[in-house]
Amino acid sequence: MTTKTPVAKKPAFEKVVPITEPTLPSLDALKDRYAKIVASRMITNAECAREFEAAVARHLGVKHAIAVSSCTNGLMLALRALNLHGEAIVPAFTFHATAHAAAWQGLKPVFVDSDPETCNIDPKAVEAAITPKTSVIMAVHLFGNPANVEVLQDIAKKHKLRLVFDSAHGFGAARKGKPVGGFGDAESFSLSPTKLVTCGEGGIVSTNDDELAKKIRMGRNYGDPGNYDCEFSGLSARMSEFNALMGIESLKLLDKNVADRNRLMKLYKELLSEVPGIGFQKIDAADRSSCKDFSIHLDEKAFGMTRDELMDALTAENIMTKRYFYPPVHWQRAFAQFGQAKKSIPNAEKLALRSLSLPLFSHMAEETVKKICAKVSQIQKRA
Ligand SMILES: *Cc1c(COP(=O)(O)O)cnc(C)c1O
Repeated sequence: MTTKTPVAKKPAFEKVVPITEPTLPSLDALKDRYAKIVASRMITNAECAREFEAAVARHLGVKHAIAVSSCTNGLMLALRALNLHGEAIVPAFTFHATAHAAAWQGLKPVFVDSDPETCNIDPKAVEAAITPKTSVIMAVHLFGNPANVEVLQDIAKKHKLRLVFDSAHGFGAARKGKPVGGFGDAESFSLSPTKLVTCGEGGIVSTNDDELAKKIRMGRNYGDPGNYDCEFSGLSARMSEFNALMGIESLKLLDKNVADRNRLMKLYKELLSEVPGIGFQKIDAADRSSCKDFSIHLDEKAFGMTRDELMDALTAENIMTKRYFYPPVHWQRAFAQFGQAKKSIPNAEKLALRSLSLPLFSHMAEETVKKICAKVSQIQKRA
């Protein structure tokens, strides 16, 4: 595109490039079984849900995978089943659902800082935040980059704390060759449409703890052990057979989707590494990220404009971006009651103010990535 004539500028893309879209199983892969579900009249929490749970447990290499209605509900149920009270240590730089789950269980979220490079909860900040009231550490594999699980497990063990992972971004991520899912007391995965494995809406809790698994299964069904004499107040958070069927087929696409996203992210990084003022999340060479999101960290001085100005410039080109995750959780109104809005959490604040997620989805064309990178570079040159 040349800019000689001052005619109304045409955006780089005619149609908006979405920040993400789900890579779905084909209708052919679903329809026979869908018909069977309808014919059977067993439309929730039945054969498909059990099959999906078994497939996920096999994939993750864990004893139990419990299908629930969302990742957030899975986290809430895990915290309730563990009967936790007092304080929960949570990262300030995450999607707010991590902290909602703690607050819902009546835990006080204590917001801590993240590592500026990996974007994951900083184990040193975790240890510094432990008080006699702490009962659980909640960590996130942010954007699919595995958290520092060994160190977190050591801290939890040393201080006799529970460790629960918000693994919403975790399908496809591996820590030193091992899929995330078997770390801590439990991990909760999201199956919402922006995640790598999707079934519309849903979640999966993974654990190797038999007793905890039993309680979470009970908890997704109100806390009812089956005799209507509820053991505790749970949720109504089962998975329908239709969702489970899509989950079964979606899981089959995971390996390819992770490989595609890693390839696209590599291309993004290669093309953007020459642009001044752009940094990336650090992923350990021994780990695999699911590449749930691709975020750039903008140094506004070197780049020549702010994160929000770049966002506006890309919007004008029909390139959708997201400020994952702004505002940081401790600044959000829902959490003002916990009195940490003014607490300085420097790396989390910096990440929240500087990160911009660019479009990434598994079936995205390399041409689209190239065109977006060329635009970012051009915007920088003109800044
Ligand atoms: C998407 C997301 C959630 C919420 O997942 P739901 O399945 O919608 O409950 C929780 N935590 C993180 C980090 C997420 O990105």
